[in-house]
Amino acid sequence: MKLTVVGYWHGYPEKGEATSGYLLEENEYKVLLDCGSGVLSAVQSYCSLLDLDAVVLSHYHHDHQADIGAYQYARIIQKGIGTKMKDATIYGHRDDEQAFAKLGYKEVVQAISYNDQSPLEIGPFTFTFLKTNHPVPCYAMKIQNKAGKVFVYTADSSYFAELAAFSKDADLLIAECSGYKRDSISQFGHMTSEDVGRLAEQSNPKKLLLSHLPHVGNHEQLVKEAAEHYSGPITLAASGLIIE
Ligand SMILES: [Zn+2]
Ligand SMILES: [Zn+2]
Repeated sequence: MKLTVVGYWHGYPEKGEATSGYLLEENEYKVLLDCGSGVLSAVQSYCSLLDLDAVVLSHYHHDHQADIGAYQYARIIQKGIGTKMKDATIYGHRDDEQAFAKLGYKEVVQAISYNDQSPLEIGPFTFTFLKTNHPVPCYAMKIQNKAGKVFVYTADSSYFAELAAFSKDADLLIAECSGYKRDSISQFGHMTSEDVGRLAEQSNPKKLLLSHLPHVGNHEQLVKEAAEHYSGPITLAASGLIIE
């Protein structure tokens, strides 16, 4: 189970970078968790677009799904010039039917919905979902491989107790960290470094990855503030960072 950080910015990408996107691989299977602005270009540093088997979207905010249209165009253009392609699926929730209806595209991308009622097998992984606290419907993901390793991705959310229970004892917790301790952002459905520290203190992951990072300040400060609550290893997201 290998995770590559493709993009980690909150809201919009900094120059040459990307917003939310994480490439998850096991053997030859490749799934992209979220596909925000800049992700489609950046992911090609790690694999061909046509090697992607699936994209799983947490929600339909631009910083998580802006490049979906370009991904559909990539597949239709490649099909048009005769490139042989494996099937590709975009997974999304149906709490917003209009947004879900735009995920499938002609005969080159199929769309499959998920919900928080039943786990979903996606390639070699089992995905379980939990609805988060966010201004639009958004789902955190727990991803387990056959060997029993577990990665949890909070997607976008303010802190709530069920998120800690959902994340319990993960091998890796990828947490959104959109602000510093002093910021009041829970009203916007986001977590500060302090919130993430509390979340990790309660859920006790083996590793904590801070992502969805703000455009101000020194990110090392986020690590210090999260470490006031959580004593395990904390890593800051960076483009191309690999965690196995
Ligand atoms: Zn969002
Ligand atoms: Zn976001």
